Amino acid sequence: MDSQGRAVPSCAGLEIESGPVMRLLVLGGTSEASALAQALADRPDLQATLSLAGRTAAPVRPVIDHRIGGFGGVEGLCAWLTREGADAVIDATHPFAARISANAVAACNRLRLPLLTFGRPAWAPVAGDHWIDVDDVPAAVRALGPVSRRVFVTTGRLELDAFAAAPQHHYVARMIDPPATPPALPDCTIVYARGPFALADELKLLDTHRIDIVVSKNAGGDATYAKIAAARARGLPVVMVRRPAAAPGTQAATVAEVLRWIDDHRPGAGTPRGV
Ligand code: NAP
Repeated sequence: MDSQGRAVPSCAGLEIESGPVMRLLVLGGTSEASALAQALADRPDLQATLSLAGRTAAPVRPVIDHRIGGFGGVEGLCAWLTREGADAVIDATHPFAARISANAVAACNRLRLPLLTFGRPAWAPVAGDHWIDVDDVPAAVRALGPVSRRVFVTTGRLELDAFAAAPQHHYVARMIDPPATPPALPDCTIVYARGPFALADELKLLDTHRIDIVVSKNAGGDATYAKIAAARARGLPVVMVRRPAAAPGTQAATVAEVLRWIDDHRPGAGTPRGV
C-alpha cells in the first residue's frame, strides 16, 4: 500500500487491495501519548502526528512524526487539521491542560471530525490517605496554613509562583526544567527530575527533606503515584488539587481502547463524524 492507499505489489508480486491511510492528530505531552505513539508507530495504515506544546526543553524523543508549539487557538488548530487532511483527533494531553482540550472540542465540532479523549482516571484516596482536596493551586497554597511547614510541591514549575503568597514555608519543588525566572520564594529547594518515580526514591526524598506535607495535582496514572503512596506510608497529608472538568465527548483509558476507536472511525467505516 502506498501513502494514498493504492494497491502495491506484495513480495510475491501479488496486488493487495487496501484502504486509504488514516491521518491522525495526537495531542500529547504525557506518558499516555508516548505509549500511544509507540503503538501507532507499528501501524503502516495510520499516519499520526504527535503534537507537543513545547513546554519541556528536551522532551522524550517521539517515535512518530511530530510537531512542537501552539497552533494559534481554535482557528490555528482548524487550519492545521484542514491543511493536513486529518481524519480524527486524539486528545492525550494532561488532565490539567484544559485550554488545548477545549480547543480540540471546538475545532472538531466545527470540522465535524471525530475526537477521542485518552487519559488516566483520577486517583481516589484509599485507607490511610489524608487528603485535603482543593480546586486549584492558589487554594492549595492557602490550605498549607499559617504555621511554617516543610512542603513538597509537585504541581510543576509554571505554577510555582503561586506559593509566594505563603512565604513562611520551606518548599522543596520538583520539576523537569528550570523555571524561566528564579521562584519568588525566600526558602525553596528545587529538585530536577522526570518521572516515572519509584516508591523507595519518594520515601527517601520525603525523609531527606523532612517533609511535613505534599502538594499534588490529581494527575492520575502510575508514573507519579509513588509520592502519594510515600506520603501515606509516612502518615503525611497531601493537598490534592482536583481536576478541571473533563472535556465532553468519548473517553478511552487504555491504548487498546484507542486502537479500537481508531478502527471504528476509519473514513468509510460507517461511523458518524463529529464529537
Ligand atoms: P493548556 O493550558 O491547555 O494549553 C495552553 C496552550 O498551549 C494551548 O492553547 C495551545 O496553544 C498550547 N498547547 C497545549 N498543549 C498542546 C499540544 N499538545 N500541542 C500543541 N499546542 C499545545 O496546556 P498546559 O496546561 O499549559 O499544558 C501544556 C502541555 O504540557 C500539554 O501538552 C500537556 O499535556 C502537558 N502537561 C501539562 C501538565 C499540567 O499540569 N498542565 C502536566 C504535564 C504535562 P494554542 O492555543 O496556540 O494552540
